[in-house]
Amino acid sequence: SVRWGLIGASTIARQFMINAIRAQGEGEIAAVMSSNPERATAYARENNIPLAVSTLDALLGADIDAVYISTTNELHLEQALAAIEAGKHVLCEKPLALTSADARRMVAAAKVAGIVFGTNHHLRNAGAHRAMRDAIAAGRIGKPIAARVFHSVYLPDNLQGWRITKPEAGGGVVLDITVHDADTLRFVLGDDPVEVSAFTQSAGMAGSGLEDGAMCIWRFKSGLIAQSHEGFTTKFAGTGFEVHGSEGSLIASNVMTQKPVGSVLLRTANGEEELSFDREDLYARSLRQFHAAIRGDCQPSATGEDGIWSLTAAEAALQSANSGKAVKIDPKL
Ligand code: NDP
Repeated sequence: SVRWGLIGASTIARQFMINAIRAQGEGEIAAVMSSNPERATAYARENNIPLAVSTLDALLGADIDAVYISTTNELHLEQALAAIEAGKHVLCEKPLALTSADARRMVAAAKVAGIVFGTNHHLRNAGAHRAMRDAIAAGRIGKPIAARVFHSVYLPDNLQGWRITKPEAGGGVVLDITVHDADTLRFVLGDDPVEVSAFTQSAGMAGSGLEDGAMCIWRFKSGLIAQSHEGFTTKFAGTGFEVHGSEGSLIASNVMTQKPVGSVLLRTANGEEELSFDREDLYARSLRQFHAAIRGDCQPSATGEDGIWSLTAAEAALQSANSGKAVKIDPKL
């Protein structure tokens, strides 16, 4: 089985990724690293992890094959580069880094080292989004014309930390949620964004000049236009994803989430049809595919290049919000 080291004693690892790594019996967690030795020990005990360490060297020196990086965003770059240097496969949280230039460095280093590098864009693993992608690829809505993403949530109390207080840690809703929306649009549409125009706001939760709401308008290569709404401060909005084509519309509800829930409706001249889709845990599927990628069978569900794309798109959205102008998106791949 694949032996994993966790870089970061994080909430996302505790809530989803530890179970996902262990899910198919293909992965085990050999060690966890926290910057704080007491936290490392407590986290290891609570999650049944045999080794707790408080330095990157100690983690990378342990008997592991792969690392999962879920520290705050400013740390991903140096931790990923060190893990790659040590020859470990890397599954890194989004955003890959604070800038797309740094993300390109990570992905280039991984390529040179010949290790597997993935970005943890979980929504690609949602049955709902895969059903939408398949329906579009099969021509069921004709030519896709427009898309709308509703991904404004309420940031839970326990996560109201660095995301709303620390620009230097990569806080703000754009690096947190817009990256996911850009990636999910690319995945579902099978198309790439070329330009974005965005407004952001500080609606009362985030401080230090950080944005806690964003609305973006995207233009895709095919000519499709899309809108996305990301937020931390709306308790009652619900989430959704719609794609409207010449011959039909896909209308998904409650699908911009971490759980395999929600519904997808196909509406055409023939009426309405509820699409069925698999309800596998998103993160477990991501790990299943990552383990297969280590065996050489496939790519991770979201690659390093996908992570460069989503960060480039988010970066362009922030530039647009700051400049008041539409910004071109060029991942330089
Ligand atoms: P957390 O705030 O829970 O964890 C980030 C770091 O904060 C940890 O590495 C830890 O540092 C420190 N920390 C966590 N809890 C405590 C605590 N109680 N006291 C002191 N320090 C603490 O962040 P998230 O888990 O929400 O996010 C981590 C990363 O994962 C980010 O990059 C984020 O963007 C991404 N993410 C991705 C999701 C997805 O679905 N793909 C969902 C949620 C997050 P140390 O390790 O040094 O102890």
